[in-house]
Amino acid sequence: MASPDPLPKNLTVVDHPLVQHKLTLMRDRDTSTSKFRQLLHEISLLLAYEAMRDLPVAEVEVNTPLERARFPALTGKKLCVVSILRAGTGLLDGMLELVPSARVGHIGLYREPHSLNVVEYYLKLPDDVAERSAILVDPMLATGNSAVAAIGRLRELGVAAIKFVCLVAAPEGVAKLHQVFPDVPIVAAALDRCLDERGYILPGFGDAGDRLFGTK
Ligand code: URA
Repeated sequence: MASPDPLPKNLTVVDHPLVQHKLTLMRDRDTSTSKFRQLLHEISLLLAYEAMRDLPVAEVEVNTPLERARFPALTGKKLCVVSILRAGTGLLDGMLELVPSARVGHIGLYREPHSLNVVEYYLKLPDDVAERSAILVDPMLATGNSAVAAIGRLRELGVAAIKFVCLVAAPEGVAKLHQVFPDVPIVAAALDRCLDERGYILPGFGDAGDRLFGTK
């Protein structure tokens, strides 16, 4: 039997059973808005854990109740979690629960329904964003146009280290991101089959913003 295609090298799929189980529940169209929101929050914690796996650490001295010894602690650049509005909001709190000191940025982008072109309508980032590492969050990596636009904006502002975290990625989006920004790693809970003619991920879970906020 032929072995399955290897994953694209810019992509890490978090295949932990807890992540996969929660994502399956989210995909079900009968899952309520409140349950969907809760599951997204829970998965965001698990994705954050994986996305931050390579944060640099350095040893520091600590006085335990018994002796003085050296232990690892986070070092290096501070973090900024950047949410692509509006659905990125659903991933934000989990990230901040793990790294409460991180700063937060927002990029508002929408896709023109016919061309699927990306339009930026909002941008708010910390003043010192260029001195930080960025974790860019959006539940869906579909065409890749929003991710490319957001990363392009962060790069323009001098942000060097960027990681993209999503729940569901489409092969088209992964390829696009890799083509334009080959140095940006992607962490996802699943790599789905393809996009439909409207740019939705199949099988996916529909419109992430609508599912998260109950707007449809
Ligand atoms: N954005 C969504 O919310 N869902 C998709 O399937 C694709 C893009």
